[in-house]
Amino acid sequence: MTETRTTCPYCGVGCGVIARVDADEVSVRGDESHPANRGRLCVKGSALGETTGLAGRLLYPEVDDQPVSWDHALDTAGSRLREIIDIHGPQAVAFYASGQLLTEDYYAANKLMKGFIGAANIDTNSRLCMSSAVVGYKRAFGEDIVPCSYDDIEQTDLVVLVGSNAAWTHPVLYQRLVQARNANPAMKVVVIDPRRTATCDIADLHLDLAPGSDAGLFVGLLNAIDGEEGDAQQLAHDWPLARVAAFCGLAEEAVATFYAWFIAAPRAVTLYTMGINQSVSGSDKCNAIINVHLASGKIGRSGCGPFSLTGQPNAMGGREVGGLANQLAAHMNFTPDDLSRVARFWGSERLAQTPGLMAVELFDAIARGEVKAVWIMGTNPAVSLPDSHAVCQALAACPLVMVSEVMRDTDTSRFAHIRFPALGWGEKDGTVTNSERRISRQRSFLPAPGEAKPDWWIIARIAQQLGHGAAFAWDHPHAIFAEHAALSAFENHGERVFNLAELASLTRAQWDGLVPWQWPIDPEALTRARRVPVVPQTHGATPDALYPFILNSGRIRDQWHTMTRTGYVPRLMQHRDEPTVDISPADAARLGVQDGQLARISSARGLMVARAQINSGQRAGELFAPMHWNSCFSRQGKINALVEGRCDPHSGQPESKQTAVRLMPW
Ligand code: SF4
Repeated sequence: MTETRTTCPYCGVGCGVIARVDADEVSVRGDESHPANRGRLCVKGSALGETTGLAGRLLYPEVDDQPVSWDHALDTAGSRLREIIDIHGPQAVAFYASGQLLTEDYYAANKLMKGFIGAANIDTNSRLCMSSAVVGYKRAFGEDIVPCSYDDIEQTDLVVLVGSNAAWTHPVLYQRLVQARNANPAMKVVVIDPRRTATCDIADLHLDLAPGSDAGLFVGLLNAIDGEEGDAQQLAHDWPLARVAAFCGLAEEAVATFYAWFIAAPRAVTLYTMGINQSVSGSDKCNAIINVHLASGKIGRSGCGPFSLTGQPNAMGGREVGGLANQLAAHMNFTPDDLSRVARFWGSERLAQTPGLMAVELFDAIARGEVKAVWIMGTNPAVSLPDSHAVCQALAACPLVMVSEVMRDTDTSRFAHIRFPALGWGEKDGTVTNSERRISRQRSFLPAPGEAKPDWWIIARIAQQLGHGAAFAWDHPHAIFAEHAALSAFENHGERVFNLAELASLTRAQWDGLVPWQWPIDPEALTRARRVPVVPQTHGATPDALYPFILNSGRIRDQWHTMTRTGYVPRLMQHRDEPTVDISPADAARLGVQDGQLARISSARGLMVARAQINSGQRAGELFAPMHWNSCFSRQGKINALVEGRCDPHSGQPESKQTAVRLMPW
């Protein structure tokens, strides 16, 4: 029997897990020593042991659907990539990675694409998760700072949850909130969400505002705060209570109560996630939230701050290594100084000089034939990207699709010419960074199955094929971590906050034994902070007579992303075993929809079929369906077949929360 301390691979809470292997049986329990969860696990995390079987796994490299040796797969990939780069240039190549990658894998992919292939066309599914939050923080603080910790939730007087069903999507954090509330009955909780969700069970006030009107609510709050004058405050004066209430579709008394509580509370934390970020105006919504914390002084001290919760376990790690097309490694930007610093550190003569294609743009460029080779790592864009039929068509026409995957058959891998078998959770080794900037180790405790390899290894071998092997000659993820930390420290004036050289000099044994460690906050960045003027926009979908409903999408309690792991665990399927659509009682009665009846939901782009759930927590005129279902579990349950790929102009994050649709009983 062995026990290994590792980290849950699902949501951004980043819970510590103790994995026990006993005669090939894997079981897990929460790690009491991990600061994120202190021993707790949610239902998904506690079922991790049931996801380590090999059913459905991709265990051998494949070229054109045939199992081949690693040498053959790498040679083929290398020669096809070289040919495309030689003929069409580096901009014809793109990588699409994932917040499921470990930081070391992410660093390797980013280095190869930006540093040595020479285009910045590497984006990730984190674009769909928190890129609006990144823009919000960078505009306010000049850098991507998350100025909060989970402990703040336990040390505050008011918790505001906006666009977050934390009870289902960040369950352990929600449990911590419930416990804190029980210990301090004076603490107030406000939930701002068009839907009445499980999170509302703890709410003292639920504001069921009109979809997408969040910025109006927070600009109105800024107006109500007697703050220092400035551009943002000037604009806010146009948003008195009556206008806010009308804009948000709320009673004036309810809005006034929220404002009075926020202003009176000595300390307040605002938690926000996909309901804010996944919007055509997500960046502005983030800044509207940050503005009220700056104006009220509820920031930079315990129990205070605007806190973006990431959806994935390593969304923050991706941000650290430049896993987005519009940034360089180590939080650096495409500025002359940063470009020079990265190029000299990597010894790269072909470092990409301009930002690359962001997720939706990237697949549009594939559809137009401009990108001719895409390497997809650890994610399933054929299900998770908006307008998924168009994504599938783009992949079908792309001359070279390579996937690094754990599972053999996914909606995306169907289009792959080359499949690389990647190690999964429990097999791979590296680090992840959670929503509160805490680096934890994910450790291997299972042998590599078949011929599966770590993602960083596959990337390094392809680099070798392309003639860049010397810059990728790592023998262990520790060497990549040390290089990443050394780049962070290289000519870095941020050393005042933390001696990064110390991190870079960790021995392999020290890295292996790394206890969860939180990046410090740069206090000077908080003092430099600025309020960003925000003009609230109307919501992001325009219902009409043909498509009269607004369709919202999100996670359900027991599933993860496109179900390629959780969908195979029977007890997790017991919660919901098929696609559903929540509809208000009034709409159901008007359309003659019975509870449990199948319904067709369609938009201008596609159709899905789901089982209707009549839900009194659903506003009339609005629907909600889970984001998870894919072709393996339901041929017609893919919500992103309906969703249009409209994006926030600043962050490139798509509007996944509002699609104009119609619903008809089946
Ligand atoms: Fe895993 Fe998130 Fe659940 Fe924690 S709360 S066990 S990180 S899914």
